[in-house]
Amino acid sequence: MKPAPFRYIAARSLDEALAAKVQHGEDARFLAGGQSLVPAMNFRLAQPTVLIDINALAELGGVRRDAHAIRIGALTRYYQLEADAHVAAHQKLLGEALPHIAHPQIRNRGTLGGNLAHADPASEMPALVLTLGGRLRAKSATGERWIAADDFFVGALTTALAPDELLAEIELPNLPARTGTCFMEVARRRGDFALMGVAATVTLDPDGRCLETRLGYCGAGDRPLLATEAAASLVGGNVTASDIDAAATLAQRAIDPSGNQHAAIGYQRHLAGVLTRRTLQSALLRARQSAGHA
Ligand SMILES: Cc1cc2nc3c(=O)[nH]c(=O)nc-3n(C[C@H](O)[C@H](O)[C@H](O)COP(=O)(O)OP(=O)(O)OC[C@H]3O[C@@H](n4cnc5c(N)ncnc54)[C@H](O)[C@@H]3O)c2cc1C
Repeated sequence: MKPAPFRYIAARSLDEALAAKVQHGEDARFLAGGQSLVPAMNFRLAQPTVLIDINALAELGGVRRDAHAIRIGALTRYYQLEADAHVAAHQKLLGEALPHIAHPQIRNRGTLGGNLAHADPASEMPALVLTLGGRLRAKSATGERWIAADDFFVGALTTALAPDELLAEIELPNLPARTGTCFMEVARRRGDFALMGVAATVTLDPDGRCLETRLGYCGAGDRPLLATEAAASLVGGNVTASDIDAAATLAQRAIDPSGNQHAAIGYQRHLAGVLTRRTLQSALLRARQSAGHA
């Protein structure tokens, strides 16, 4: 398949990329890893008249960290995140989820920013950024703003980015002490999009009681979702197996899967229940280990 004709602009600076977007508006698309955009163009599902290639913009790449957060440039590729020692040591949820994305060849090109801007509801990273309480820096020719992950994903393949905005950076707060995390998904084959995926974080107080839990889902609606009531049900107690079962039931009710050719809605809800239980058990165990209670 071949794409419809388009003009190609290789941006040499961020200012040039942003000015080109102002000039060409919704007809123009930024080209990052090309792993979603190019197939969509080849199938003529997307027909931008202008492609603004941002791959040469080194300022959009790389991982930075400070005392409070990790900041990931939008052009950082999945394989760079997989290889980053800080991510491996301190953002284990990310490290656990990254290998589920497609295949190594796609992870060599695909970027975190491209993935989040594409906003596929079955995609792992939007659910993770939401679960981790991240925020995203959008830049335009006239300024910049931070958007909370809660507000960034507004529907299937739709974000809060304005037509003249580029996603520049993703910030993930450092995890509190005594926190355990876990990501699991079910896909038909390794590398396929998830039929259901669940990210869980559990933070304990010094006495081993649950201080905070977050539960995020991919493949569970028209955007990544949090099961807030299910997560809140665990707070304040010494979490037991029956507490986890009850939270999983609440989570099954909270999600809104639409089903697809590979999974009926009922099967997706079943998966959400199983994965909620398993990710919570694992995150809790890891939290207890990090607190010295296991
Ligand atoms: C066979 C196959 C299997 C896959 N499996 C999975 C999977 O299991 N899980 C998963 O999550 N993904 C999967 N993907 C998609 C992959 O993760 C893509 O890399 C990702 O969705 C898009 O990232 P990209 O850098 O390639 O973006 P591109 O394809 O270059 O761009 C995607 C969209 O985002 C826009 N965009 C890109 N960067 C920016 C930016 N900085 N600011 C604003 N807009 C921007 C583009 O204009 C375009 O509209 C798969 C892809 C393939 C081909």
